[in-house]
Amino acid sequence: MTEPILSVRNLKKHYDLGGSLLGSSQHVAKAVDGISFDIHPGETLGLVGESGCGKSTAATSLMRLEEPTDGEVIFNGGGRETNARREGEKSHPNDVTRFSNKELKRFRRDAQMIFQDPASSFNPRMTVGDSVAELLLVHGMRDRQQRRTIVKDLLERVGLSSEDYDRYPHEFSGGQKQRIALARALVLNPDFIVADEPVSALDVSIKAEILSLINDIQEEFGLSMLFISHDLSVIAKVSDRVAIMYLGEIVEIGDTERIFQNPQHPYTEALLSAIPTPDPRTRNKGIKLRGTVPSPANPPSGCKFHTRCHQVIQPESIDIDQQNWRNLLNFRDRVARQEIDIQSIKENAIVGDKTEATAEEIKAQIRSDFELPERVSDPELDSALDESLDKLADEDFEWATERLHEPITTPCEEEDPAYSEHADGHQSACLRHDDVRESVELAAGDD
Ligand code: ADP
Ligand code: MG
Repeated sequence: MTEPILSVRNLKKHYDLGGSLLGSSQHVAKAVDGISFDIHPGETLGLVGESGCGKSTAATSLMRLEEPTDGEVIFNGGGRETNARREGEKSHPNDVTRFSNKELKRFRRDAQMIFQDPASSFNPRMTVGDSVAELLLVHGMRDRQQRRTIVKDLLERVGLSSEDYDRYPHEFSGGQKQRIALARALVLNPDFIVADEPVSALDVSIKAEILSLINDIQEEFGLSMLFISHDLSVIAKVSDRVAIMYLGEIVEIGDTERIFQNPQHPYTEALLSAIPTPDPRTRNKGIKLRGTVPSPANPPSGCKFHTRCHQVIQPESIDIDQQNWRNLLNFRDRVARQEIDIQSIKENAIVGDKTEATAEEIKAQIRSDFELPERVSDPELDSALDESLDKLADEDFEWATERLHEPITTPCEEEDPAYSEHADGHQSACLRHDDVRESVELAAGDD
């Protein structure tokens, strides 16, 4: 395979939130927490995940619009030397994180970025043509007529008219502005473009047009691209490969087709399940992603996705319906955080014209509110649940927390999953893969 144009290795961006107490660990938001991927010449890698997963931070860090905390970003665009080592250093000569200002200027010619909101990135008092041409001037093209010619040609190539050169940003629609943003990203003839949610602010019909324009332009200009979106259905239209990001980490990466046909990580499954499809056979499996992405300042232990995962692993002693298990974990966490309004549960539990609900009715109400099973096959878990419900009716959260702590545990909150390789270039990080791998090894060791 050809050498990648971009290699990101263990990239981190931790924001210092200040307020750290003496002796305690520093208070940081780990917005990007060690991501690695390659992008090959002419390839588009889609980066997808819900809002707050760290996609934009990954983009601005690798473009060095912000200083990364750690990691390498090797950029081999623009015919750069790739074999020489930086003098006196072990680092790669094309490591963007170590570029001098001069090197950065050249990098910013070869690598461009497009943002979600084109409106805010144009000077309202400048014609759009001059906005685009400005970059040529900054990079040394003094001939005004030459700049005009190049920009007019580009405006036509992105589906506008050369006469649009002398118009102002407010005269254009959102979709047209995004075309102009694309022209501006192309004007210095870059090798690589990062597009951060470029169609997320556009109407559905316009979205499709801009995506197809991006595809055409990418092919025509032989561009490599990092295409960011929270929407897998958008990613599917433009990406050769997809990286799924959750809470600062890439949980799965692979060929777009493989990811869609054969997703391995539960988070990927859940994102796929949210895509509406007209074909009832492939209709979503009804996986609901509840809640939102937790704060990177206080991420869950172990696998960061375990607090929302529909596949969260049960302890060996327990074998119950997976949805019931998820509900039990949610219940345990809400009890521990004392986030249950017992008073209103008691009121809701009153039947008919009685003034008070019985203890049994209150317990039943909690079970119904949290969709807890009537009985659990594991006797230890069953009695822990029953006793906890008793105490909760008396608002004894601490006792209930303690009682639920032991029987309701999962390896997912203890172990950080490593990557497993499923096929060439298809990897994901989930503890469930370890089960599979182990059983494969056992089977192999039998003979
Ligand atoms: P995405 O683009 O996937 O929606 P972002 O990269 O914008 O995610 O944000 C990732 C996380 O980093 C969020 O929790 C966000 O609040 C946090 N974050 C972003 N910028 C800063 C900052 N300057 N200081 C502290 N936290 C930040
Ligand atoms: Mg973003």
